[in-house]
Amino acid sequence: MILEGKTGKWEIVIGLEVHAQVVSNAKLFSGSSAAFGAEPNTQVSFVDAAFPGMLPVINGFCVEQAIKTGLGIEATVNEVSIFDRKNYFYADLPQGYQISQYTRPIVSDGRLVLDLPGGKTKTVGITRLHMEQDAGKSIHDQHPAKSYIDLNRSGVCLMEIVSEPELRSPEEAGAYLKKLRAILRYLGTCDGNMEEGSMRCDANVSVRKVGDTAFGTRCEIKNVNSIRYVMQAIEYEAGRQVQLIEDGGKVDQETRLWDVAKGITRPMRSKEHAHDYRYFPDPDLLPLVLDPKDIARIKASMPELPDAKKARFVDQYKLTPYDASVLVAEQEQAAFFEEVAKGRKDPKLAANWVIVELFGALNKLGKDVTDSPVSAKNLAGLLDLIENDTISGRIAKDVFAIMVETGKDAAGIVEEKGLKQVTDTGAIDAAIAKVMAENEAKVAEYRAGKVTLFGWFVGQVMKATGGKANPAKVNEILKAKLAG
Ligand code: ADP
Ligand code: MG
Repeated sequence: MILEGKTGKWEIVIGLEVHAQVVSNAKLFSGSSAAFGAEPNTQVSFVDAAFPGMLPVINGFCVEQAIKTGLGIEATVNEVSIFDRKNYFYADLPQGYQISQYTRPIVSDGRLVLDLPGGKTKTVGITRLHMEQDAGKSIHDQHPAKSYIDLNRSGVCLMEIVSEPELRSPEEAGAYLKKLRAILRYLGTCDGNMEEGSMRCDANVSVRKVGDTAFGTRCEIKNVNSIRYVMQAIEYEAGRQVQLIEDGGKVDQETRLWDVAKGITRPMRSKEHAHDYRYFPDPDLLPLVLDPKDIARIKASMPELPDAKKARFVDQYKLTPYDASVLVAEQEQAAFFEEVAKGRKDPKLAANWVIVELFGALNKLGKDVTDSPVSAKNLAGLLDLIENDTISGRIAKDVFAIMVETGKDAAGIVEEKGLKQVTDTGAIDAAIAKVMAENEAKVAEYRAGKVTLFGWFVGQVMKATGGKANPAKVNEILKAKLAG
């Protein structure tokens, strides 16, 4: 995206840091539960509360989840990585440091393919993925003068996934987050729920004049909790920086917050207040050494991921890349589509119905495919009726509306309401004769050369048959009759 400023054209440069909470029963270095939503401080071991002398023991399952995610973003899984201590003082961090990975992360050099409007794609580099512990949570809104600490989250395993500064617009940032979330969900390594905080995003934003090769000074916008807000925050922040520079100021490298209510970013801490984390290798933990056999085993267990599925849908069902990318955005949607499209001579019809009609209806109801009132089997039944000419596409929409409301199957509704298409030429002939007899003046006009009236006649005949006449037959017979 190019911003038009007073002094010329500007380009936005964005790099995203995503914290993804690993799906795991237990925490990264302790056996306590990592489940969301429990009563405060009910899932805290001595390790999570940093009692003196407690030692961390790595959770092998979390490591496997990180490896799986690394493979899912086509990255290098490093056979040796190191855990470091990131030191800072805060009330919800009882250890006084977070165990993280700094110089040698478990995963580096990945990539992600963005699905952009019009079926276009763009590949973005992922610098690294490292494992770290989450901190506890400070609760400030329970008491006017006191803050409370909940350590349930303390020690839960996070993956920090850092992109290269290769994103160039809020839309690309949105597409990046959607794709990353889809991959995490396909893999089952993170549930990707931004509202509950199991996926959190910091956006680094800078601007530069179009044509410049050096990057501008960036600001980091912290913890924005939805994809839409990330996009809005980036757009606002880029505009702010352009205006600032054009007015003769300069951007300070600082951490900013997104203010949802005002729709602006505002400073949180400047570089002078930036932390010095004094990273050093955690002496309680040995280097993490992976067995290549384990990496190979995990690789062999990987599911089909969105890009591969998209390519297969384009190839196997002849869908447009755009339609395919919409369907594969969620595994459950893709599975639903495949159940409807299975063995069908026109899979594109299935894609249209799923994307336009079904997703439209679900959107209105605020439901997902997993709780769709219309099952895949029933939608397939409806498409069968269209394909074998029992009902027209027009009537099918009415039937579908009833299916959404009642959850009943299509054939039953068509039977019950008498919606079978009239393909019997006798009945169509009669309807045409009636329409022509009642509109002699229009027939004369048509025959005198006003052929644009044809559509009007089709409409009248469809109306006369309650919309049930086969449109192709109506067209054919009507043309002949009007010709005289
Ligand atoms: P830090 O450790 O201070 O957060 P990093 O070098 O790890 O710094 O960068 C963090 C993120 O900032 C990365 O996603 C990177 O792509 C992005 N980034 C770096 N420089 C810029 C820049 N000039 N403009 C926008 N994003 C940037
Ligand atoms: Mg950072």
